[in-house]
Amino acid sequence: MSGHDVAIVGGGSAGLLLGCLLAQRALDVVVLERRAAPAGGSRAIGIHPPGLRALDRAGVGGRVRDESIAIREGLALAPGIDLGTVRFDRSPIRALPQHRTEAMLRERLAALAPDALRLGAEVVGASEAGGAVALAVAEGAAVEARCVVAADGVHGPMRGMLGIGSTAVPGEAHHAMADGPDATGRADAAMLHLHPEGIVESFPLPGGARRWVARLEGPGAGMDAQALRATIAARLGAAPPLADDAPVSAFVARQRLADRFACGRVALMGDAAHEVSPIGGQGMSLGWLDALALEAAIAEVLATGRTAPLAAYARARRASARRAMRRASWNMAMGAPASEARFAARIAVVRALAAPPARRLLAASFTMRGL
Ligand SMILES: Cc1cc2nc3c(=O)[nH]c(=O)nc-3n(C[C@H](O)[C@H](O)[C@H](O)COP(=O)(O)OP(=O)(O)OC[C@H]3O[C@@H](n4cnc5c(N)ncnc54)[C@H](O)[C@@H]3O)c2cc1C
Repeated sequence: MSGHDVAIVGGGSAGLLLGCLLAQRALDVVVLERRAAPAGGSRAIGIHPPGLRALDRAGVGGRVRDESIAIREGLALAPGIDLGTVRFDRSPIRALPQHRTEAMLRERLAALAPDALRLGAEVVGASEAGGAVALAVAEGAAVEARCVVAADGVHGPMRGMLGIGSTAVPGEAHHAMADGPDATGRADAAMLHLHPEGIVESFPLPGGARRWVARLEGPGAGMDAQALRATIAARLGAAPPLADDAPVSAFVARQRLADRFACGRVALMGDAAHEVSPIGGQGMSLGWLDALALEAAIAEVLATGRTAPLAAYARARRASARRAMRRASWNMAMGAPASEARFAARIAVVRALAAPPARRLLAASFTMRGL
């Protein structure tokens, strides 16, 4: 059995960033990732100001700035009405596909600690004894570490293996999304089109592209680009320029919070601890904020042998995740299909919030202030 200071289960965005932070401190860290090759696919694009600060601390902020684009404004629209504009020019949200950000983190980790990331290492068991945690790895030697971090995502097994329950936030919402060329002429703006049949959102991407996301009445599995284009055209009065063969991703926005974020020498972080709705898109940055807090807590545990810093981490980050989920629930409610009367009331609320002085609060919420 090999002994390490820290073992991180899961080499997604959260586990990779924490791996970089710990390797920078010259700690002996190993990141165990069950996939044999990195994941591609469409997931996060938005990197919020606190997330960018975490990337800076991990040494990849400069590269992310160079390759991403800045979203400086959010436009709220409804059929025939301009509801207002929320500006975040001072601390813009950056847009970059998640697989690119993760590639940069993997490269940084490889530069800091060439053997730290182990691909094809699936953790199948965990047990704590004598001041260390032993991890069983499928078809591999067991790994022992003085601290373990579960960064194994929404579907990972660590939370269950630790006997930690979780609580679902009521409310689920089906969506479909696809990327195409940006013909809006607003490469610095996110657009939120409120509609009684469900919101349509669009976000600029690097390389002159734009991501379109539509809320659906039911599951979007099997939807193709033509159907998504028609759905959006029916609400906006104009079809977005999505190619017929553009890949469409269907997803369900839902939220779930772990009942505890730590157990002895094991801490939970990222989606393993909190599944936050992608509507508002703050889950990845929230996981990076966990990493910043864990970096300090783990250093203290290793220096003192006491696990109290992990318990303090758990309380503080769980409270922060709850705040993020409340904000995301509000975002989801604003995008839900609605009756005429309810939609009119929603328009009035959004119009008030998108105007001074309230729009400063909206900008703070969109840019993750206070989390
Ligand atoms: C459609 C969509 C859009 C989104 N948009 C945004 C956005 O714009 N901004 C934002 O901030 N967030 C967004 N999110 C959320 C974001 O994608 C997640 O919060 C983020 O990926 C979570 O990272 P993670 O590292 O915690 O988990 P994951 O990315 O899920 O990584 C977990 C890793 O653990 C590995 N693993 C699992 N089990 C084991 C095991 N037993 N042993 C070893 N390894 C294991 C997995 O293979 C995986 O690589 C979006 C999500 C979706 C679905």
